[in-house]
Amino acid sequence: MSTQPIISMQGISMRFVKPVDTAGKIANLLGAKNEPEVVHAVNNVNLDIMPGEVVGLVGESGCGKSTLGRVVAGVYSPSEGTILYNGQDFHKMGARGPTLETLAVQMIFQDPMASLNPRMRVLDIVGEAPVAHGLVDKKDMQDHVAQVLTRVGLDPVYMRRYPHQFSGGQRARIGIARALAVNPKFLVCDESVAALDVSIQAQVLNLFMDLRRELNLTYLFISHDLSVVRYLSDRVVIMYLGRVVESAPVQQMFEGPNHPYSQALLDNVPTLQNRKQRFSTIKGEIPSPLHPPSGCHFHPRCPKAGPRCQREEPKLRQLAPGHFSACHLNDGGTE
Ligand code: SF4
Repeated sequence: MSTQPIISMQGISMRFVKPVDTAGKIANLLGAKNEPEVVHAVNNVNLDIMPGEVVGLVGESGCGKSTLGRVVAGVYSPSEGTILYNGQDFHKMGARGPTLETLAVQMIFQDPMASLNPRMRVLDIVGEAPVAHGLVDKKDMQDHVAQVLTRVGLDPVYMRRYPHQFSGGQRARIGIARALAVNPKFLVCDESVAALDVSIQAQVLNLFMDLRRELNLTYLFISHDLSVVRYLSDRVVIMYLGRVVESAPVQQMFEGPNHPYSQALLDNVPTLQNRKQRFSTIKGEIPSPLHPPSGCHFHPRCPKAGPRCQREEPKLRQLAPGHFSACHLNDGGTE
């Protein structure tokens, strides 16, 4: 395995500014001092992903995992930090439009119906980007699309149909085909099977694993479904309120999570029979990223919190090869 990460996230932060709403503006005219609020969606994330690896990124909704995925895929430019693709600044490479390198990173979205243009035929949905970017001649588009559709298990005979003429599972495959059509090396999959029935999910997950083997792909697989992450991933990264709190090889993470948040999250790993129980063991709501708690963001919900947790942010520390956790309990205690 190469020692250079295919993706290296270095100090990635992403903030969104929430403008003052109309009521706030009117109040300001009357002397109030409402200011735009800042959502701290992702906060100083450092993460390397090696070629061929499948990294599962998990956390409750609102933890920043989808935002981080979009930054990695180039959908958002980070507020701070750099993404390196094979050692080169990914966002600078794409500043003047897509290049072969930026096309090598593709994103597969959760809801294929929302992400596929309903007025376009599958032929154009899948064939448009490779032709537009000069990867395939217009005259070869049909053959290229047929090849990609076959690879994802769809009959090319249906390439002139529209998305609504396919089932949910088939639409998920069309979304995967669209990403594969530009010969990617790295796929960001954001809840890519969440909208599917369990039996169809299993088929699409198997397709992801087959494609990984056949095309030597690397995945960042974002999911709130721990059973999916456990099945697919080599390594699991857990986020809480914009920060990475623990990262470990999959077996180590599921058999011996270190961080109290990971322990609560994995305490009741759902099986196929009780999948609805996700995250039910953690007390309290995830706080708003508009006003994250001081120190360790998890302290209002943590059963092991002490005074230090409120005032000091814990740093990620290596506990074993490849196993990192950010908790004061690993570093002198919580007093
Ligand atoms: Fe809990 Fe403190 Fe560790 Fe945060 S640092 S997880 S609050 S013990």
